[in-house]
Amino acid sequence: MQLTSSTERGHGDPFDTGHPRVPFFSQAASFERVWPEIQRHLTEVVERGKYSHGHKVAEFESALADFTGARHAIAVNSATDALILLLRAAGLRPGDEVVVPAMSFVASASSVVLAGGRPVFADIDPVGYALDPASAAAAVTPRTRFVMPVHLFWQMAEMDALTDMAAEKGLTIVEDSAEAIGMRWNGKHAGLLGAGGVLSFFPAKTLGALGDAGAVLTDDDEIAETVAALRHHGRFGPTVGDFRRISTETTVSGVNSKMDDIQAAVLLAKLGRLGTDIARRAEIAARYTERLAHVPVIRRLPTVVPREATTNPVHYVYLVEADHRDELARFLARHDIGTETYYPIPLHRQPAFAEFDRSVRGFPHAEAACRYALALPLHADLTDDQVDYVCETIEAFAHGGAA
Ligand SMILES: *Cc1c(COP(=O)(O)O)cnc(C)c1O
Repeated sequence: MQLTSSTERGHGDPFDTGHPRVPFFSQAASFERVWPEIQRHLTEVVERGKYSHGHKVAEFESALADFTGARHAIAVNSATDALILLLRAAGLRPGDEVVVPAMSFVASASSVVLAGGRPVFADIDPVGYALDPASAAAAVTPRTRFVMPVHLFWQMAEMDALTDMAAEKGLTIVEDSAEAIGMRWNGKHAGLLGAGGVLSFFPAKTLGALGDAGAVLTDDDEIAETVAALRHHGRFGPTVGDFRRISTETTVSGVNSKMDDIQAAVLLAKLGRLGTDIARRAEIAARYTERLAHVPVIRRLPTVVPREATTNPVHYVYLVEADHRDELARFLARHDIGTETYYPIPLHRQPAFAEFDRSVRGFPHAEAACRYALALPLHADLTDDQVDYVCETIEAFAHGGAA
């Protein structure tokens, strides 16, 4: 079987200079390496004839619980639905406020709205890009019942300070750990520091499926049982596999957010190489950092804040802050290098959340990050030559190189 990158271009590409082309994201090679294993799991799915919420899903849940050390790993169709179901299962009531960092993916805030709550925003710490504990504390009102740390890019939020703050204010912690597979805080996997957390298996994530998929992680039996029911039309009963024993009585309105067995098959196979992929990501990040350290347009390289002592970096995204960010991104695109801006608009400035913005002067750290941040290609399939080409091209831009 021949797998090609979706971003690969045909012949006659006007920008094809003979250099390696660097898609922002590609999983083709990593899929190719595990293809025999994926095929074995897929064949089992097809032969059993159960394509949704079946045995392969149960097998993956058990493997994921082993990998993370979670008491419960509940497979769903995306991290966005995982957040909505987790918030509901953790007891979010209509109108409850949830403190969310102003710099994150939209799902951190939209999940709160869709679960019936109200996001209230707080600033990030400018080095780690995660919820700033002091700003989070300042956002708390008598209606606030939850705080949602988001672990972005390569490391976890400052969980000791956030846990203290949550305890002091009587808040429940729900982690948006969608990006954080493999990250641990004092040995505990991301998502297990409060009531629960989520994982995303969107293809571009560190562990990517062949489409959308996600999971809830929790050590709480009751939350696990409720999430498992909510993902399946509100039906309580054995989590997966044996449908004959699942209650047909509906006590709560659920949704259909089940994981497909095809995705579980892919994820089971890829989970086996996750350690290798994470190690390769770390090598690539180190190579970027070494090469870009003295390039003038780069204002900031990824910094692992001192909490490295308690959390291990997992390089999901390699994010720099750059002067003339948008020109740099266009220059790189002209040289056939894909980039992304994470995140282009801070959440309190998103029209969908305008009614929730209580900030007086905005959130300066989140706004600066959204203005300067640029994510460079980082995936386990990148070659050193491709990384070097990205760095050379950034140097050319910095030195006023011709487009
Ligand atoms: C990717 C991501 C999500 C959403 O995950 P999906 O599986 O695409 O729904 C939520 N929050 C953060 C921080 C993410 O990076």
